[in-house]
Amino acid sequence: MTLVSLGLPTTPPAIGAVPIDTPRSGPLVDRFGRVVRDLRVSVTDRCNLRCTYCMPEEGLDWLPTEQALTTAELVRVLRVAVDELGVETIRFTGGEPLLRRDLEELIAAVAALPSRPEIAMTTNGLGLTRRIDGLVAAGLDRINVSLDTVNPARFAEITRRDRLDDVIAGLAAARRAGLSRIKVNAVLPARDDLPRLPDLLRFCLEHGYELRVIEQMPLDADHRWNREAMVTADEILAVLRTEFTLLPDPRPRGSAPAATWLVDGHGSPDRPARVGVIASVTRPFCGDCDRARLTADGALRNCLFAQSETDLRTLLRSDLPERSLDAAIVDLWRTNAWMKEPGHGVNGPNFHQPTRPMSAIGG
Ligand code: SAM
Ligand code: SF4
Repeated sequence: MTLVSLGLPTTPPAIGAVPIDTPRSGPLVDRFGRVVRDLRVSVTDRCNLRCTYCMPEEGLDWLPTEQALTTAELVRVLRVAVDELGVETIRFTGGEPLLRRDLEELIAAVAALPSRPEIAMTTNGLGLTRRIDGLVAAGLDRINVSLDTVNPARFAEITRRDRLDDVIAGLAAARRAGLSRIKVNAVLPARDDLPRLPDLLRFCLEHGYELRVIEQMPLDADHRWNREAMVTADEILAVLRTEFTLLPDPRPRGSAPAATWLVDGHGSPDRPARVGVIASVTRPFCGDCDRARLTADGALRNCLFAQSETDLRTLLRSDLPERSLDAAIVDLWRTNAWMKEPGHGVNGPNFHQPTRPMSAIGG
C-alpha cells in the first residue's frame, strides 16, 4: 500500500498512517468540504479508436492483463465505495469499456448492492448494438456515447478509424433498449470543426440525444494540447447561437460538469431539449466537484489532473486477512480523498500535464 507519485518520488506512508485530521466516518469528504458521490471506474486502458486528442496513432503500451483489477477485485472495491463510503453513481469508462468482456457481470454485481447506485457508462459506441440489451438487463441506467461529428470524413480523421456508422447504430440501439436521457459527448479538436457543430446538435435533437460539448483538456498522450488552439466554451456557444436559440436552463446545475441551456422550439413541455457545454479549462467547476476516479490498474485518483494517486491494488493483493480488508480499503480511500487539491490547476503558472493520458485515467 503506497501513495504513488507520478513524476516525483514521495515517501510512502506506513500501513495505517493517515493524516491526523482525516475523518474516520461519514461520507468520503475532502478538506474543502466536497463529498465524493460519483465514481468513474476505468475498466481498461485499451481502445479500438485513436482519437487525436486522446491517443497516439500507434496506440499505447497497454497494461499487462495481470496488472488490471480482476472482476472480483473490482466488485469488492465498488461494494466498499457504495455500501461503506456513500458513492451514489458508478460510471464505467476507459479506454473503451466495451472491450472488457465482464462488463455485464460487473454491472449486475453493482446493481445487486444493498445501496444500489445509479449505473452509467461512457463509451465510443463500437459494438454497442451487440451488447446493449445485456448491459441494460444487467442494470445499466444511463449512457454517454462519444461522437464528435456526423461528417464521415472528419469522423475518420479525428478517430483514425472509419466507424461513424457503427457509433450511430450504437446510439440507436441504446434508444431501442429503453435508455432515456442518452448523452452524446463531443470534443472539437480544431476551430475548423466549429462550423459543423450545428449539424451535430441537429442530429442529436432529431434523435432525442442530449449533446455535451467538452473543451479539449491537456490529457492527450502526445502532449500536443495548446491553449491557443483549444476551442473554448464561448466559441462553442457563439456558433450554436447562430442557428439555435439557447434559453437559460431553470434546472439547478448542482455538481454537474456541464452548464446546460434549453434549445428553444425543440423537445416537449415535459422533456425540453437541452444542450450542455463542459468548460473544464475556461470555466473550471472544481469547487463543486463530487467525483473520484479508479484506474484499471487500481489507482485511486481525486482528479483527472492529480499529480499523485493511491495504489489500491497492492492492498487488494496483500495477505491482509479477509475480515480486515474492507476496513483497510475504507481507511486508504478516506486518506486519499482528504488530500484532494482545491482545483485542477490547468490555468496556474506551475501546471504540468499528468503522466497518465486520458485513456489510462478514465474520462
Ligand atoms: N472510450 C470511451 C469514449 O470515448 O467515450 C470512454 C473513455 S474516453 C477517455 C471518455 C471521454 O473523454 C470521451 O467522451 C472523450 O471524448 C473524452 N476525452 C478524451 N480525451 C479528451 C481530452 N483531451 N479532452 C477532453 N475530453 C477528452
Ligand atoms: Fe478511445 Fe475514448 Fe480515447 Fe477515443 S476518447 S481514443 S474512444 S478512449
